[in-house]
Amino acid sequence: MPESNSDCPLCGQSNQCAMVAGLPATRCWCMTQPVAPAALQQLPPERRGLACICPECARPLPPMQQSLPI
Ligand SMILES: [Zn+2]
Repeated sequence: MPESNSDCPLCGQSNQCAMVAGLPATRCWCMTQPVAPAALQQLPPERRGLACICPECARPLPPMQQSLPI
């Protein structure tokens, strides 16, 4: 059974990659949304460059909210 690259290596959800759906890569969400470098660093080396991550995991961490004035 061929390994599917349609799932996110980080969370296992569908990565919604346009190429997996048979669409041009230019239609992929990753062309318009920045991918967090921290998320890419968590990818297993054997899947890096093969499997896309999903939009949720690619989203940068929310800004720290600890510095709110009290
Ligand atoms: Zn994910």
